[in-house]
Amino acid sequence: MGRILLLDTTLRDGEQTPGVRFAQDEKVEIARQLARLGVDVIQAGFPITSAGEFEAIRTIARTVQGPVISAFARTVKEDIDLAYEAIKESREPRVDLVLATSPIHMQHKLRKTPQQVLEMAVEAVSYVKSLGCTCQFYAEDATRSDWNFLAQVFSAVAAVGCDVLCAPDTVGYTVPREHYKLFRFLDEQVDRPAHVILAAHCHNDLGMATANSLAAIEAGARQVECTVNGIGERAGNASLEEVVMALRTRQDYADYAGASFEVNSKELYRTSLLVSHLGGISVQPNKAIVGANAFAHESGMHQDGILKERTTYEILRPEDVGVARSLFVLGKHSGRHALLHRFRELGQEVTDVELIRVYHRFKELCDREKQATDHDLLSLLEEERAGASSLRDAAVSSNTEP
Ligand code: MN
Repeated sequence: MGRILLLDTTLRDGEQTPGVRFAQDEKVEIARQLARLGVDVIQAGFPITSAGEFEAIRTIARTVQGPVISAFARTVKEDIDLAYEAIKESREPRVDLVLATSPIHMQHKLRKTPQQVLEMAVEAVSYVKSLGCTCQFYAEDATRSDWNFLAQVFSAVAAVGCDVLCAPDTVGYTVPREHYKLFRFLDEQVDRPAHVILAAHCHNDLGMATANSLAAIEAGARQVECTVNGIGERAGNASLEEVVMALRTRQDYADYAGASFEVNSKELYRTSLLVSHLGGISVQPNKAIVGANAFAHESGMHQDGILKERTTYEILRPEDVGVARSLFVLGKHSGRHALLHRFRELGQEVTDVELIRVYHRFKELCDREKQATDHDLLSLLEEERAGASSLRDAAVSSNTEP
């Protein structure tokens, strides 16, 4: 299968998250981190939306090295001119055009016939190519479009030089098997030069964005589009860290054989922290890959297993995504093994008797608190040792006093 390109749209689609707005310098900082992560394309924004947006994109295009920098545009000259202006100083300037192809969008939003949409698409792509840059075309709401019409539009824009054909699941409506079939159909039916690739862009309205992205790869898509932490409109976009780690972890599955992203996964956790910090959108604790609990184990049985052999309950190595180590959450379901392990990590040698006694106190604490912090554990051990020594003192003094 080979190399799969990763387009990150945290700065465009991700910023369309309700309540999220990145300042200009924050967009640049995120773009730098995305370059360290090693994504292939940074979709830096939608220049027509504001002067600040335009400036942020232009700064990214001028200063961020490595990834291709693209800007988003509708199929109108004003949008395209501004998009080109924003990214023209980058290594490989790229304009990403969007035009809807579904009956619902063409009738109600665009109020255009399919023939008019086809002509607008060809005209806009021709114009972008006349500027001398790479062009991606989004057939918006592709998954609710007529497949034959979609193939017709893609073939027409490919004929005038479009480089990347994206069939987005704009409203998060498709399911993995259907998405697989759509990409198989497009791969077979779209008339295009060999270098022209298909791209998938999935939304998470039904919680299937990651699964749908993998189905598209399996069916021939050579670019997938994601956001960090899966932020984006409504329920968000396909989560970059999930798509990357799912494909990497399941290299043993024959249908993904050879497909890979060239990203530095050790930067995933840091990227996630930066985006959640700057965007003000916290990551749910049970979020795959980057959630606070993604490598945490509470059940005593699981903790015992992990201590004996990590792979009993972990399919990913935390260090591979930049998380320092497995975190044992010590709570009321935890066992003595985990408690002893944590004391050792904290540099405390605990005797068997002490462990039994502290474990008892620990369970009492866990009936009051959700979880025990390192500070709690050290306090318990101190109390236990102080209690034991005062008993000893009492025993000693009772022996010596007449
Ligand atoms: Mn989208």
